[in-house]
Amino acid sequence: MGKYDINNDGYYGEYGGAYIPEILYKTVEELRKAYLPILESEDFKSEYHALLRDYVGRPSPLYFARRMSERYGCQLYLKREDLNHTGAHKINNALGQILLARRMGKTRIIAETGAGQHGVATATACALMGMPCTVYQGALDVKRQHVNVERMRMLGAEVVPVESGNKTLKDATNEAIRDWCCHPADTFYIIGSTVGPHPYPDMVARLQSVISEELKWQLEEKVGRNYPDYIIACVGGGSNAAGSIYHYIDNERVKIVLAEAGGKGIDTDMTAASLQVGTTGILHGSRIKLMQTDDGQVVEPYSISAGLDYPGTGPLHCNLYATGRARVLAVNDDEALDAAYELTRLEGIIPALESAHALGALPKMTFNKEDIVVLTVSGRGDKDLETYLKNINRHETI
Ligand SMILES: *Cc1c(COP(=O)(O)O)cnc(C)c1O
Repeated sequence: MGKYDINNDGYYGEYGGAYIPEILYKTVEELRKAYLPILESEDFKSEYHALLRDYVGRPSPLYFARRMSERYGCQLYLKREDLNHTGAHKINNALGQILLARRMGKTRIIAETGAGQHGVATATACALMGMPCTVYQGALDVKRQHVNVERMRMLGAEVVPVESGNKTLKDATNEAIRDWCCHPADTFYIIGSTVGPHPYPDMVARLQSVISEELKWQLEEKVGRNYPDYIIACVGGGSNAAGSIYHYIDNERVKIVLAEAGGKGIDTDMTAASLQVGTTGILHGSRIKLMQTDDGQVVEPYSISAGLDYPGTGPLHCNLYATGRARVLAVNDDEALDAAYELTRLEGIIPALESAHALGALPKMTFNKEDIVVLTVSGRGDKDLETYLKNINRHETI
């Protein structure tokens, strides 16, 4: 057990825990007792890894980006989660949780979604397993993300638009929790990131840890040692970052850089940089850094990227930041757009807007020529083309 692992109550330092309504206590306790024995069983592992290989297309490649390396004066390797089935890392988690749900005898799946990426991953997993699926999505997001809504419906999921609050991800999550409270015995709630009550943050981190498990042998093969000097990833709730760093957290030679969404700037009120501007509070079942007013009202976050505009960040990342283990950089909308165009024009890879925030950290850093830098491209940019094309003029000169 490394020093950044959780304790028995699900705390990473002062962050985490399980703050849940009484009615969910039995359900969450049942999950807490079940998840490790199941995730570590041979039966689970063989089914999960076979699906990751044959259905998701893993291992995802580790690609040496030659032209980007020249530009930034380092050895830059991209971990290509964008090449996964359904276009991002989220499928790793959704498949793992549905296999767990089946082993726990659950017959119905619910999920929350913001931009729709986690909803699509969950609807995909449910189609594959023949399980009924209800996805809660803020009514505003249902409008903004209609293509993903149509994908979920085609996959057979019921998409429920949530009309409360600001009609975005936070409200969808509240509604999913409400559903769970009404059907705790038969329903499994697939949470999409390293957030929520214990054991979700740890469970999701473990399911995404396949990313750094692959990095170890891919780096050994490509550079002759199994760790990089830097790992850079974007953070919304924190799952792609958690998976990318999982096997390196206790290796102090590996510098961890987390890119959160600066929005219009962390000194404005249009930001989602909750690690840097947030204060400690409780949201969706755990104690984390979140954006809130002095009297504890959650502040609506803002980012150009729908996948990063959650008002908090998972407890693992809060602790990495608080202890200084991770360096956290805010990358603003315009910096992410520039970075997306740069990767597209230099390497022919159109990244998701979320991943573009990780790329936007590069110009803020200084490297030595020999530094091995791994950057996780968490998803592909097809879903973001409209946003990219709206901003094409400022990039014609790149
Ligand atoms: C959802 C999403 C994210 C943000 O979620 P994390 O849990 O922080 O990884 C990042 N990139 C892509 C492509 C996403 O779909």
